[in-house]
Amino acid sequence: MSIQSSSGGIPVVILKDGAQQTKGRDAQKNNIAAAKLIAEIVHSSLGPRGMDKMLVDSLGDVTITNDGATILKEIDVQHPAAKMLVEISKATDNEVGDGTTSAVVLAGALLENAESLILQDVHPTIVVDGYRKAAQKAVELLEKIADKVSATDKDVLERIARTSMQTKLVRRDSANLADMIVKSVIAVAEKKEDGYLVDIDDIKVEKKAGGSIKDCAIIKGIVLDKEIVHSGMPKKIDNAKIALVNNALEIDKTEFDAKINITNPQQMKSFLDEEQRMIKNMVDKVIASGANVLFCQKGIDDMAQHYLAKAGILTVRRIKESDMTKLAKATGARLISNFDDLFEKDLGSAQLVEERKVETDKWVFVEGCKHPKAVTLLLRGGSQRVVDEVERSVHDALMVVKDVMEKPFIVAGGGAPETYAATKLREWAKTLEGREQLAVEKFADSLEVIPITLAENAGMDPIDTLASLRSKQLKGNKWTGIDVMKAQVASMHASDIFEPLSVKIQIITCATEAASMILRIDDVIATAKSAG
Ligand code: ADP
Repeated sequence: MSIQSSSGGIPVVILKDGAQQTKGRDAQKNNIAAAKLIAEIVHSSLGPRGMDKMLVDSLGDVTITNDGATILKEIDVQHPAAKMLVEISKATDNEVGDGTTSAVVLAGALLENAESLILQDVHPTIVVDGYRKAAQKAVELLEKIADKVSATDKDVLERIARTSMQTKLVRRDSANLADMIVKSVIAVAEKKEDGYLVDIDDIKVEKKAGGSIKDCAIIKGIVLDKEIVHSGMPKKIDNAKIALVNNALEIDKTEFDAKINITNPQQMKSFLDEEQRMIKNMVDKVIASGANVLFCQKGIDDMAQHYLAKAGILTVRRIKESDMTKLAKATGARLISNFDDLFEKDLGSAQLVEERKVETDKWVFVEGCKHPKAVTLLLRGGSQRVVDEVERSVHDALMVVKDVMEKPFIVAGGGAPETYAATKLREWAKTLEGREQLAVEKFADSLEVIPITLAENAGMDPIDTLASLRSKQLKGNKWTGIDVMKAQVASMHASDIFEPLSVKIQIITCATEAASMILRIDDVIATAKSAG
């Protein structure tokens, strides 16, 4: 449908044929409905009693998860407003790692509540202003009640990791995993003047289906999911001297078809001899450097393998670039591109390099590295789908531990901080004049969607639970929340349910931004798909 507006009686065509435009209330209603639907999808996944989703992609691959970001990433969302909610879950995942479901559920509630105000003729910009002020106030309130902890307190960090894993498949093994996760984050954390900085990419995560989640292990070093290239090479080297090369140990094939005219056998022999000499030359450089281990990012020729085996050099080829960087960091080796540049000073070291069997595969373990910051988490689980979900849960847990190390403030979980902030916001709203007051009150109602959903998913009565929660908090215990596993309102201290302050702040700011953005739209213009 082309849109034509009239100026002085002359029709003006603005949009191409086939373009679609939805305006005003209709556009708002439509966007809010789409965003609410997305929130609805993840709603039942929130909390320890939340349900999992089974997602099947176009190739028939199945993912089973209750991680909000993963659910939304896997479903192919079409509606533009719905896509914005998918984006906030991604943003939350990137920023703080956890809280992705909560952010989407909160954004859905903010939009639902805004809709009722808009129906009462409150202008959307007033709602947006009220929401923004309320979000800022809520963040201030949470910052006030948050507990400062020591960034390296293992006990606190483990509790944080455990709470994050409470809601996942790995719940039963969370104690064991939390210990490994905290050890690995502490190992890679870098001390700065004003605290710690953690890059969780420094922690290598390898997964292998088989065994059970109990078999997950932390390895002080680097694990490569590759085997030694040649059966004649040593399988174990103590006091390894490691060369790292990111070039191939083979003769480059020409990229164009080359024809060599050979007229007698002697020429053929010298051609092959020359190739052999070049390969031998490269291997000699490795031997001359004193290396007893060679890690190569590219391929290694059969002949080179033979010479390296003869020299007793343990060699692994086709290692991922990211692993080469980790190996360089861990062993102190310099990454070399040209074999002519390889000298003894470029070698790294490790106490042990060994090939071990992991299920049906053989992997190479580099342990006792020069740099103590090298760690690998080896994740196991009954099937590929289980290990994949273990990996996602471990990622979230690594992120929350990182969050607390970088910003050492924690709050309670179980809907406690949301209920507290809602109560305080309602009190604060009374001091505001005009319609913004209504928006702040609706913001408070929206925050309570978290405890309400936790209760609903646990089969508790949401209204009774919220009433009991509010009254207990009013008696002065701001750490009272819902212990979902025991299905009761309880002190989160006693139930050991803690979350990083930064996750809560991210959830509130991200959800408010997305809701505000959607509310400010009053015109949706979809360009016609170009033919062909
Ligand atoms: P998200 O993706 O938002 O982290 P989750 O499904 O992991 O979603 O649920 C997180 C919520 O569950 C948080 O509000 C957290 O406080 C709460 N939670 C986690 N463990 C418990 C527990 N044992 N009892 C009550 N609430 C819990």
